Amino acid sequence: MAWAGSYRRARLPGNWDGIRAQVLMSADYSCEWVRTDTGLRCGRYANQCDHIIAGDDHSRENLQALCEWHHARKSATEGARATNSKRPKRERAVKLTPFEARAQAQHARAAIEQRERIDNST
Ligand SMILES: [Zn+2]
Repeated sequence: MAWAGSYRRARLPGNWDGIRAQVLMSADYSCEWVRTDTGLRCGRYANQCDHIIAGDDHSRENLQALCEWHHARKSATEGARATNSKRPKRERAVKLTPFEARAQAQHARAAIEQRERIDNST
């Protein structure tokens, strides 16, 4: 397959910047990575828009906001297991209860504030 080699470089649509901004905004700039140990979302400041399943599906269901740490971690994992499709498929988006969603939003804001404090102090 001729395109297999460039699989990791997913072709991005022309309006990618807009899509990306929308994903990050709808996630409240909070990392959507779900920790396997706690089942909770990471919630750290997210500035990365990631394809849940690598490829050309740029729908919101296949995109998630990630913090830099989880994006780097996931990319590394994908690189290592590119030919192995045994990765468990994540159930679309995680359905949060209103309470959880509020907690996430507060957490994200706190993370952003903390980050800004760090930025300001350096
Ligand atoms: Zn994260």
